[in-house]
Amino acid sequence: MITKIIREENIEKVKKIIDKNSKFAIVTHISPDGDAVGASLGLYNYFSEIDKDAVVIFNDSVSDNLRWMPGIKDSLYYEQYKQECSDILENADVIFCLDFNTPKRMGELSELVLKSKAIKILVDHHLYPGDFCQVIISHPEISSASELIFRLICRMGEYENINYDCATCIYTGMMTDTGAFTYNSNNPEIYVIISQLLKIGINKDWIYDQVNNHFSENRERLMGYTISQKMRTYPQFKSAIITLNSEELIRYDYKKGDTEGFVNIPLSIKGIVFSAFFREDKDYIKISLRSKGDFPANKIAEMYFNGGGHKNAAGGEYFGSLDEAIARLEEVIPAFNEYFNDKN
Ligand code: 5GP
Ligand code: MN
Repeated sequence: MITKIIREENIEKVKKIIDKNSKFAIVTHISPDGDAVGASLGLYNYFSEIDKDAVVIFNDSVSDNLRWMPGIKDSLYYEQYKQECSDILENADVIFCLDFNTPKRMGELSELVLKSKAIKILVDHHLYPGDFCQVIISHPEISSASELIFRLICRMGEYENINYDCATCIYTGMMTDTGAFTYNSNNPEIYVIISQLLKIGINKDWIYDQVNNHFSENRERLMGYTISQKMRTYPQFKSAIITLNSEELIRYDYKKGDTEGFVNIPLSIKGIVFSAFFREDKDYIKISLRSKGDFPANKIAEMYFNGGGHKNAAGGEYFGSLDEAIARLEEVIPAFNEYFNDKN
């Protein structure tokens, strides 16, 4: 038996909304990761199973290691099909907003979603949900939005309609947002859910392989170069920074998704509890932060890098040069000295 985390009132509301309406759109955050894609396509495959018309709209492209996911070929990319996406959002009866907390995280889709008259339903696990949806299902204590989609469908009495494709997507999201169940994954119910997904027939080993072992040779070489040449450690602050500039990205034929996970690498070093990865993008420096224990990576993202996220996984943007971003972080890290004690 799984705890009834989502409030009954919200379950009933969502069930009624699904029953009464026929055109559904599903949106998620920019640069969608495994959980964003897993939750979106998981819900999409559920709608397909119950013969409801649903479309997943991604703001921008999905990285190669997620492009195998069932339903991805039916999805639309706003960057490529602006008019079509805009029409769908305008005419949708219901828009599901998955795996993000504030409209800003939708990028350019934000304006279209906000101005649409559709009923909006948020299903998310980030802190501080914004007030832009009629139904807000927000559970930061749950490690993935995909798990919340599973809980939502089951609580509506619809476990039977979780087909293989839906289950595969949900598992992918649960797996990627927990580093294959290596962090944020001590809740025993996660494994009850996995066992139910296995009963539906998912091949969890194959899913892991698709996500983690299908990179290009260039990506592996870029990772090696990054570790050996581009990592600075600050043992006194139990911290490390890795950086990549645009010239280096071009040199290794960088493709979207290639640097996914790099930020975690310094955390494998004994004594490091905070890791930052700065990547030079076209208009800004993309910031990824990870931490262990109590160190609040999200505070650093919120206070200094126009971002946010979870305590141990956060991100943001810096408008300036790579060197300035590094200097900024070096300047602020010492203020977090209370977290550099032996407990961490
Ligand atoms: P990643 O480092 O994988 O890009 O992001 C890790 C987590 O940080 C995401 O799940 C998200 O919660 C948060 N995050 C990343 N980038 C941003 C950002 O620009 N703004 C906000 N508010 N959160 C972000
Ligand atoms: Mn997530």
